[in-house]
Amino acid sequence: MTGNHLFQRLRKKWRFVAIVLAATAISCIIGTLMARNPQRSDNPAATAALQVHNLNQSLTVNPLVKEVGNDRTAFNLDRTVEKLLTVLESQEKLLTFVPPEQFQGTTVFEGKVKDSEKVIALTVDDGPWPEITEQMLDIFKQNDVKATFFWLGKSIENSPEIARRVVAQGHAIGNHTWHHWYDPMDAATAADEIDRTAKLIYETTGVKTSFFRPPGGVLNNGLAKYAKEQNYAVVMWSVTSADTDPRAQPSAFVKNVLKGAKPGAIVLMHDGGGDRSRTIKALPEMIAGLKKQGYRFVTIPELLEMQEQA
Ligand SMILES: [Zn+2]
Repeated sequence: MTGNHLFQRLRKKWRFVAIVLAATAISCIIGTLMARNPQRSDNPAATAALQVHNLNQSLTVNPLVKEVGNDRTAFNLDRTVEKLLTVLESQEKLLTFVPPEQFQGTTVFEGKVKDSEKVIALTVDDGPWPEITEQMLDIFKQNDVKATFFWLGKSIENSPEIARRVVAQGHAIGNHTWHHWYDPMDAATAADEIDRTAKLIYETTGVKTSFFRPPGGVLNNGLAKYAKEQNYAVVMWSVTSADTDPRAQPSAFVKNVLKGAKPGAIVLMHDGGGDRSRTIKALPEMIAGLKKQGYRFVTIPELLEMQEQA
């Protein structure tokens, strides 16, 4: 259930608006009925108090309003709305991935952190993908790992529910274009590849992201150029699991990552674009090996924020 938690809360935003409208409507109806009834309308203060009471009752049936705190005896609509807006603002922050200014419009291959900062960022490309992404999410959850997923528009189109689960579990999101094209393209096509994907990411999950990974790591086909113009951080990698090698065993993926690990490293793996069951097989051992080396796992936004502060 926790997987849907964030989105239940988002929906509450609209539920709240509906409840406020409903409460207002109820208050108006009650007010009108009372005005028509001379016996009950001769005390305007009592009528007003009843309206506020009704509004309060309507609002307090909303669990989100309960959560932000309300006082049934001294109801203060302004204060409740103010607190509610703070909650919604923090929700929006959780769904917005923007690199620190110094990285906007630049290409990043790894995080530059102190050797004593044993942090590493796992990145997962080409999904969301049926079954594989879900298995990956379970492994990440069991190991308390947060990763960064670079999504394809066409993959989100096929698996919107899985996309929502990834976001609900607190992972960071980046744009990986719509079609995963490598060949050079004109500016309009590049713009469409990135903007169309950004739009679907937002419509599907509420996420806005300014992190971009070019398909195949190709930096000169027009995509990275457009992404930089739009102030994305273009995120490459410093270690590859090489999990797209069709002949390699999962143990090789583990070896590649453990051998290349260093503080600030960005690790490449895949959850989509083909059968990634070998990546799933390798993942628990990969995580265990990195933990044994003393690493903790950060998302790309977290990694760049660490570097900015260093
Ligand atoms: Zn890719």
